[in-house]
Amino acid sequence: MQHYLFIDRQLLLTADNKVPEMAQPCDGAVIFSLDDGIRCAAANSQGSKELHPVELRASYDLLPLTDYLRAGKAAELLYWNAHHRYCGRCGAELEPRTEISKWCPQCETELWPQLSPAIIVLIHRDDKILLVRSRTFRGNYYGLVAGFVEFGESLEECVRREIKEETQLEVDNIRYFGSQPWPYPQGLMIGFTARYKSGQLRLQDDELAAGGWFNIHNMPLIPKPLSMARKLIDNYIKEMTSDNQ
Ligand SMILES: [Zn+2]
Repeated sequence: MQHYLFIDRQLLLTADNKVPEMAQPCDGAVIFSLDDGIRCAAANSQGSKELHPVELRASYDLLPLTDYLRAGKAAELLYWNAHHRYCGRCGAELEPRTEISKWCPQCETELWPQLSPAIIVLIHRDDKILLVRSRTFRGNYYGLVAGFVEFGESLEECVRREIKEETQLEVDNIRYFGSQPWPYPQGLMIGFTARYKSGQLRLQDDELAAGGWFNIHNMPLIPKPLSMARKLIDNYIKEMTSDNQ
């Protein structure tokens, strides 16, 4: 059985960067699976001489995609267990119920892990796209407009609101692109494209450090391939260059 072991939120891998296998689940392990139904174990670890820690994000470059996705789910389950131990309604200690739910024995409330959905949007204007550098980015790269979905709004309304707040621009032709789990922690990224419609670019100063329209043939440093931002950018470049052939 594959063991997704963590120490200080870092994933432990073997010397040849594989997920360690053990015949039986280790003590305290949470058993989980993805949609393929293969059972894996997640646990916090004290570490061992045979294993070395890597950042979960960096494991994307080292592991097969399925193992990276499993590592993300394992990290989320452990995070959820550590951060949701008591009932938010009555304060009693929660008990595990299923693989993905807990139960309050006092007020009989069932709780499931909560995700924070966030939109991310590539705004295009002919062969240029809008790239921005968030003040929260760790590194000197440019990404896309993004933000958390608020109560009472649809994903499309969130796309329009975030674009308006961060850039003062109006868009149309909003199209769904894809989604991905974003376990850093408890995230779900939902990607869109949108066409520039009107407005003068004016960046929201407290969120964005820089930004502008970039020709797809002359790009600044962009996010790493694991991110939805990069998938959106790569896909747009591919579409534009194949259209022109
Ligand atoms: Zn309760």
